Amino acid sequence: MPNPAPGSDPCRTITDLPEKRLPDTRTPITVVGAGIAGLTAALSLAAKGFEVDIVERAANLDEVGAGLQLSPNATRILDALGLTARLQPHWVEPSEIRLVDGRSLRTIARVPAGAFARTRWQAPYAVMARSALQSALADAVRAHPLCRLHLDTAICDATPASLSAITQRMPGLIVGADGIGSKVRLAIAGHGKARLSGNIAWRLTLPRHAAPSPFDPTVVTAYLGRRAHLVAYPIGASGGLNLVAIGSGLTQADTSEEASRAAIAQLLSGWHPDIRSALSRAGTLGYWPLIEVEDGAWHDGTRILIGDAAHAMMPFAAQGAAMAIEDAFELAEAIGKPGDITAHLDAFVQTRKARVARVRARGAFNRFAYHASGPVRLGRNLVLSLRTPERLAEDFDWLYGHRLPGQKTP
Ligand SMILES: Cc1cc2nc3c(=O)[nH]c(=O)nc-3n(C[C@H](O)[C@H](O)[C@H](O)COP(=O)(O)OP(=O)(O)OC[C@H]3O[C@@H](n4cnc5c(N)ncnc54)[C@H](O)[C@@H]3O)c2cc1C
Repeated sequence: MPNPAPGSDPCRTITDLPEKRLPDTRTPITVVGAGIAGLTAALSLAAKGFEVDIVERAANLDEVGAGLQLSPNATRILDALGLTARLQPHWVEPSEIRLVDGRSLRTIARVPAGAFARTRWQAPYAVMARSALQSALADAVRAHPLCRLHLDTAICDATPASLSAITQRMPGLIVGADGIGSKVRLAIAGHGKARLSGNIAWRLTLPRHAAPSPFDPTVVTAYLGRRAHLVAYPIGASGGLNLVAIGSGLTQADTSEEASRAAIAQLLSGWHPDIRSALSRAGTLGYWPLIEVEDGAWHDGTRILIGDAAHAMMPFAAQGAAMAIEDAFELAEAIGKPGDITAHLDAFVQTRKARVARVRARGAFNRFAYHASGPVRLGRNLVLSLRTPERLAEDFDWLYGHRLPGQKTP
């Protein structure tokens, strides 16, 4: 979610109390941020018996942004948290993920999803509205006797004393799930810096029943072109068609609708006329400069970061929310064990950093391949077209087949 404009942050300054030493038994935990990471963490921690306060600056949880792809590594965890029955009516399981050349509209590759995903990765590949996921998580949090949600409550600093003044409980651990502009991250010495990536996303929605050619509302399609790609997929069972155009190597100071339309028209100038004409007729564009958080310290014994607060990444592998969900669940598994909590946090960070680094590397590779031009584009199209769908799916086993702690890899 975007941070509030400078000067509008409703934080109060709270007189500090001495910090409490972190205990290693069941202890109240304060989660800062009720996005996908924070709500999943609250449910995962409560399932382990922790009392959890969730402190969120928004007055209500109408999540911005339209759609979300949830790969099997994420849906497996949501299922383990008992959320599938709430989510399934809102999601669509696309039959495949298709890569299409944006200039010729030729299909370059198909990765099967649908029933294939459920068999191969033992969990569904789903697409849905972000708001439906956010609501399902928030409803489950509200219904959990160990969770307390404090909306309309922004934190300015992330000391146990400040948070205890809000929740009336001294937290043994503070979980920073407060996104890209994280205040919790700022409190951790050696934290990674947030920086503009030079990539910009524009989001828009089309009515699904009238989805113009060439869009196919039953699949996830990535249309590829020079320095840009466009992803299209249905938003859940009853929503529209979600379109996200992403351009690389860009800075756009002018955030107006007019400037965004001009930037997209230029990026897609050599693309197939059907795509260009569909986009030129579409409704308002959401402008989204992409920010990433570089690697740095994730915990200091009192505070631990998860989700975008720890490692906001580019959406080239569509894994930011999935990594947030994995972080949340694995954090609860790690600190739910008996023993020294700081050692558990060290082990958690080590494991998660390795996984996130691999996902980031995959995203960087996708950007290189998706946005290629000239001979690289021709080589990409040739290599991909020679691979069978089964062989392409194999490349995702490490990512989508990621098991919950204690489960065997398929
Ligand atoms: C264009 C685009 C497309 C994407 N597509 C996908 C996709 O298909 N699949 C996927 O897995 N990921 C995708 N992602 C990534 C995904 O959206 C994010 O990684 C994910 O939403 C991060 O969740 P989070 O809970 O960590 O952070 P956020 O969603 O940012 O939540 C942070 C929460 O903390 C609150 N907060 C912030 N500061 C404070 C404060 N001081 N006090 C109290 N509360 C505070 C905020 O209000 C917010 O509710 C995409 C991202 C982009 C930009």
